[in-house]
Amino acid sequence: MLQGHSVVNDQIKKDGETIQITNPSNIEELVGEVTLSDQKVVNQAAEAAKQAQKEWVSKTGAEKSAVLYKAAQLINQYADELATLATKEMGKPIKEMKGEVQRAIQLFRYYAAEGVRPDGDTIPASAPGVHQYAKRVPLGVVAIITPWNFPVAIPVWKIAPALVCGNAVVWKPAENAYLTASKMTEILNEAGFPSGLINLVLGRGREIGNYIVEQANINAVSFTGSTKVGKAIGQTCAQRNIKFQTEMGGKNPAIVMADADLSQAAHAVLSGAFRSAGQKCTATSLVIVEDAAYESFKQELATAMKDVQVTPADQEHCYLGPVVSKAQYDKVSRYIAQSTEDGTVVSQGDIPDANGYYVRPTIVEGLDETHPAWNEEVFGPLIVLRKAKDINEAIDVCNNTDYGLSASIFTQNLNQSFSFLDRLEAGMVRVNLETAGVEYQAPFGGMKDSSSHTREQGQAALQFYSETKTCAIKYQ
Ligand code: NAD
Repeated sequence: MLQGHSVVNDQIKKDGETIQITNPSNIEELVGEVTLSDQKVVNQAAEAAKQAQKEWVSKTGAEKSAVLYKAAQLINQYADELATLATKEMGKPIKEMKGEVQRAIQLFRYYAAEGVRPDGDTIPASAPGVHQYAKRVPLGVVAIITPWNFPVAIPVWKIAPALVCGNAVVWKPAENAYLTASKMTEILNEAGFPSGLINLVLGRGREIGNYIVEQANINAVSFTGSTKVGKAIGQTCAQRNIKFQTEMGGKNPAIVMADADLSQAAHAVLSGAFRSAGQKCTATSLVIVEDAAYESFKQELATAMKDVQVTPADQEHCYLGPVVSKAQYDKVSRYIAQSTEDGTVVSQGDIPDANGYYVRPTIVEGLDETHPAWNEEVFGPLIVLRKAKDINEAIDVCNNTDYGLSASIFTQNLNQSFSFLDRLEAGMVRVNLETAGVEYQAPFGGMKDSSSHTREQGQAALQFYSETKTCAIKYQ
């Protein structure tokens, strides 16, 4: 049976409570066993990271780069094993999971290349004979706290830039991704990073996660997860005066204008809303359709729903599998039941005859903006539809939310496209593309309650994982 453990200084930590991990596609299948750690292990991890960082920071950019390339190569070598494990552990369809592992390889390669790219600027000095430059320097030890829904890509889009900037890492993954995190740590530790540079601590968020943020000897926190937890982490880090970034929840709208290719829009809306069982921070959850196209678009959705098959996640053609856990199943089922009771069902998919956490992908209409399914992040396969008389009303509806992660519009009209791109209050705005979609080389993050207003991925991540030192030397 697969085992998951904390790892400090390349050593497995074995003492602690043990929990069993079952497959959300078939809850009778035991996937593995995980040993949880206590605060003592957090302290050991922070100390190991501190010592390892001293060695790592003394390496040249080219040397760091070489180890990151090796990490990319190893993830590639273990790609199928890693994807299969993650699919069994958290229920993401295997095809998407394989894509996610490829994304992790691309991220490692992208940040490996940063080892030999410029890390600062020269700035003309006012005084004669003075050479002045500003360069990025590492923060030290970075705590990385990750969710379960992208169990490989999110940790990597934090760990890879943190490492190339010269930091060490204490990583606390989410409860439903412990085995995948253990395998990832094993792979990374094979790449040749100094012992103790990447440490893994497995434990519950409210205990171990909290302790890391409040007490551990760390220099920064990069968190992705829910808005409630993220805001609390932000407050604690602000009090400690350590650098933090929090990427949080979303309630992502898609606007469909009457001039759009309605069939293409329907497929993109369903894909954005239902793939990964709606468990993406960028998943589409609100769909606002221009009056004139409302009935035709509903028909297009009903036709496109024929492609939306719910199956066990290990099937190659799986469109959506189960949700991740019993808790998630109960929460999402409550939202769907409340929405179908208070509104009208437009379309609803079937679930397989299997013993897993399957919920029916559902489209409803007739809920107003005070309804919980309209306001709150469901994180499951539920779409709420409504009409708008024109683009101005549609944009106002989209902006009338506390979240601001991702948003889409479907239209053939250039003026409407730019009006949307300019006025929508979200970090990711997309025309004729689904709301879910992240490019590793582009900045990623939200506005309003979706983020602490920093960005991840691309060059933006390098800004977070470093700080600037301005140097001046008088030579005559
Ligand atoms: P979560 O907030 O419950 O947990 C995220 C991580 O924080 C986990 O590792 C958890 O153990 C830890 N944690 C929980 N309580 C903590 C505490 N008190 N102190 C420190 N750490 C704590 O979120 P989740 O259920 O794992 O993930 C789903 C959420 O993540 C959704 O809201 C989703 O929108 C969000 N998400 C956001 C993005 C983004 O980039 N914006 C990406 C993926 C997921």
